[in-house]
Amino acid sequence: MGYFLDVVLPIPLERRFTYKISQKEAGFIQKGMRVAIPFGKSKIYTALAYGVHQNAPEAYEAKEIYQILDETPLVNQFQFQHWEWIAQYYMCTLGEVVRSALPSSFLLESETLILPNKETEINDLELKDDEFLVYEALQHQSMLKVGEVSDIVDKKNVLPLLNRLVQKGVVCQKEELYEQYKPKLVRYVKLSAEFDDESRLEDLLNSLSRAPKQSQVVLSLFQIQATSKKPILIADLEKESGSSRAVIKALIDKSVLEEYFIQTDRVQYDAAQEEKKIVLNSHQKEAFEAIKQSFANKRTALLHGVTSSGKTEVYIKLIEECLNRGKQALYLLPEIALTSQLINRLRQYFGDKVAVYHSKYSLNERVEAWKNVLNNAEKAQIVIGARSSLFLPFSNLGLVVVDEEHESSFKQFDPAPRYHARDASVVLASYHGADCLLGSATPSIESMDNVRKGKYGYASIKIRYGNVLLPDINLVDIKEATRKKRMKGHFSETLFNAITETLEEGEQVILFQNRRGFSPIVECTTCGNVTQCPNCDVSLTYHQHRNQLRCHYCGYHMALQNSCTACGSFTLDKKGFGTEQIQEELKELFPDARVGRMDLDTTRGKYAYEKIITAFEQQEMDILVGTQMVTKGLDFRNVSLVGIMNADSLLNFPDYRAHERSFQMLTQVAGRAGRTQKRGKVLIQTYNPYHQILQQVTTNDYNKMFREQLYEREQFKYPPINKIIKLTLKDRDFNKLNEAAEWFASSLRNVLKHQVLGPEYPPVARIRREYLKNIVVKVPRTQSMAQIKNSIKRIEKSFNAISKYKSVRLLYNVDHI
Ligand code: ADP
Ligand code: ZN
Ligand code: ZN
Repeated sequence: MGYFLDVVLPIPLERRFTYKISQKEAGFIQKGMRVAIPFGKSKIYTALAYGVHQNAPEAYEAKEIYQILDETPLVNQFQFQHWEWIAQYYMCTLGEVVRSALPSSFLLESETLILPNKETEINDLELKDDEFLVYEALQHQSMLKVGEVSDIVDKKNVLPLLNRLVQKGVVCQKEELYEQYKPKLVRYVKLSAEFDDESRLEDLLNSLSRAPKQSQVVLSLFQIQATSKKPILIADLEKESGSSRAVIKALIDKSVLEEYFIQTDRVQYDAAQEEKKIVLNSHQKEAFEAIKQSFANKRTALLHGVTSSGKTEVYIKLIEECLNRGKQALYLLPEIALTSQLINRLRQYFGDKVAVYHSKYSLNERVEAWKNVLNNAEKAQIVIGARSSLFLPFSNLGLVVVDEEHESSFKQFDPAPRYHARDASVVLASYHGADCLLGSATPSIESMDNVRKGKYGYASIKIRYGNVLLPDINLVDIKEATRKKRMKGHFSETLFNAITETLEEGEQVILFQNRRGFSPIVECTTCGNVTQCPNCDVSLTYHQHRNQLRCHYCGYHMALQNSCTACGSFTLDKKGFGTEQIQEELKELFPDARVGRMDLDTTRGKYAYEKIITAFEQQEMDILVGTQMVTKGLDFRNVSLVGIMNADSLLNFPDYRAHERSFQMLTQVAGRAGRTQKRGKVLIQTYNPYHQILQQVTTNDYNKMFREQLYEREQFKYPPINKIIKLTLKDRDFNKLNEAAEWFASSLRNVLKHQVLGPEYPPVARIRREYLKNIVVKVPRTQSMAQIKNSIKRIEKSFNAISKYKSVRLLYNVDHI
């Protein structure tokens, strides 16, 4: 009797595959180690060992594995347990979970592209013969496929060789490297405090009478200060006074002038710096105690704290206690909120115990973080990371914090596993017997409903840290103003005046323009034609900056034509407005203001997002115009006005969550105003000032919003009252798709009756040349999800057996949001 190994392949196949191993290998291999295996005719994969046994597979002749790639498991029991839950709950395969959980360099396969690693200096004497051959080939060729490496060294299985080369830093995989972003500090200058006193000032000017250049600089500084309250750039002073940097430096050396930076403490983390201590105020302390009480009873708690109430400090205290118990802590955030601002804040408390796990980090950094967590190393006692960090090999987890838990970006959309990181975190914590804290200023209806039902504990902070007042929120009726023709572009007089005042005070402004469903399109006023994307079922949107029409779904773009592509008339009109147009209008209305923009287009580059944040933080910009991105947990000190250009596009979005989302988004963006002593101001422009959600935002009445929304969800049987499983079918052939979707829906109806909705086209019914159709299954809480999933899976099996539907792809999205 021989020995066999079941493995998990990182592919969307349900089954485990069985390979032949020797007795000695059987004694060595443990679940969670990687093995290189042959697959199909010529493919090589890295697979995870799942179990050793002695039962030969019946349906096929087991092949031998090529090689064992690890000496100890890379994946532990906690992970297998959690990943199997994810696969089962979100209706995908364990292989798909493995594929997205492991950093891709752990999963070399025959299709992987190998590049020379230009960062390492290679001493070729240290390379073995086969290693050298690969190294040399990469001097002449920019990249190699794993298959080509096989040819070069004339060996079938080269994964062990490539693993060695990756480890030695000779090669890397194709992907962008992301180095830590270190912003350049902007230098500002002011008069030293001792000259605030008028008499001392006169003395100073007298004493400088024999240094005319220096006194010119001091006088210029006065002049600038008299006209503007903004901080003064050294560069500006230099220009204004017509002097040189050397003169200014001389004054700084004499302590007449003082050079300073804005927010240095946040920008740099200095390991030598002493660790800070936190003292919670009474509200924070109360919440902290309530959370610990809940942990003792229910393990999961929700912290509902208004914007700037100091939730982060409460997390830090909890993390500290967790570390003191000798346990690991995980701090999850939406990708976009994971800024260096926050990372540095944590490092000030925990020094280098903090590891960061982020998809933008290089593979090597991710691999290192993985290994540190696996070994429970000192360097990774706290992991702060985006969604995917819940896949790390924790063995001793004591606390999971999910910040901004209401964020819909916690749900993975594509590809599988389409998991919700918040919900998966609660499960992860339960497997470890760990505590789990969800935090938000605007909790999701789901989480608050779990509090209401007694599943989660609850703590709240209603007061901002330092007793700073919540911003004063006002609605501006633009219907009236538009009718009376009193708008300046998209700006009401009220907003215009508020911006003017704020700029005069030397303070900053954030303007929020939701671009979803409201991007500018180009329409022909003669024939009504709007140029469509050739691949997707959407209109192209206009981008002024490049004078292009672009598709937001597939990236297709074309130059804007002078005449209509349909009728040839020169009557093209730009409709709707986006961030870019607001920026243009601002340039006209406030020619002296420096205006920045933050949206998907301006944040594409490597550090683009961080650069904009830093520039705004260092007050190199006066106004920042942005989309949703400006709502994400940023902590700016000098912003006293937030303007929302148009709230209606949010409210009118065709989705049962539109109202909940609008409340969250508006409250969050409003929360960016006035985070220091002076009360911030928020102006919301709308055609609908009596809309209940806008009323609830202005009065900060979360509870009313929650009750009303929950009532509506009950009426229409939406989550969290029911659960939802969304099925999407895709095919390039329109008729085939329709037929297949009908077949699937009616088979579902046979079993699940009126719980099945659809098939229906989604709002964008064709993407990248594929047609789409959705079917939604609603599952009441009283029914077993597991049973319903089994029924669906059985129908899928019959469906897969129908040969004419072979090309149709089927995706599941459980708890679709
Ligand atoms: P939230 O996450 O609730 O929006 P933050 O945690 O960002 O709020 O806190 C807002 C501001 O108040 C931050 O600048 C933070 O440093 C400060 N802060 C909050 N709590 C404390 C505390 N206990 N001691 C010192 N500063 C605090
Ligand atoms: Zn036309
Ligand atoms: Zn497209």
